[in-house]
Amino acid sequence: MTRLAITLALLLGTSTVFANCTFELEVGDSLEFSVKTIDVGADCAEVTIDLTHTGSLPASAMGHNWVLSLDADLQDVATAGISAGLDGDYVPAGDARVIAATKIIGGGESTSITFSVEGLSAAETYTYFCSFPGHWAVMKGSFRVAG
Ligand code: ZN
Repeated sequence: MTRLAITLALLLGTSTVFANCTFELEVGDSLEFSVKTIDVGADCAEVTIDLTHTGSLPASAMGHNWVLSLDADLQDVATAGISAGLDGDYVPAGDARVIAATKIIGGGESTSITFSVEGLSAAETYTYFCSFPGHWAVMKGSFRVAG
């Protein structure tokens, strides 16, 4: 994949020879991410998540965010996030189990986050989810880094 991308970049004469480390995700007025699996290339030191809410409901009713944790921590992080409230983006402040998190957005809004993946392990199972109360049980996807 990476070699192919580099070959294509050379063939096309572009200067970009790095794997794509930016992922575009859409959410709407339902409990679903448009992307269910994110595979991070081996040459990505950082990953950027661009999250767009294409729905029409406000953040207070159908807010979504993108939170990354170990799969084993998902339920505890999501539960702890409830008390943070909408003002705290439903993410527990200063919680080391939260690897990355965007703010909560409503319909018509978008947000972005860039974070380092150098400390993450291919041997671990990571899950991204929306921490809006009640969403995390179904609104999630798997996040994998290369070994
Ligand atoms: Zn949500």
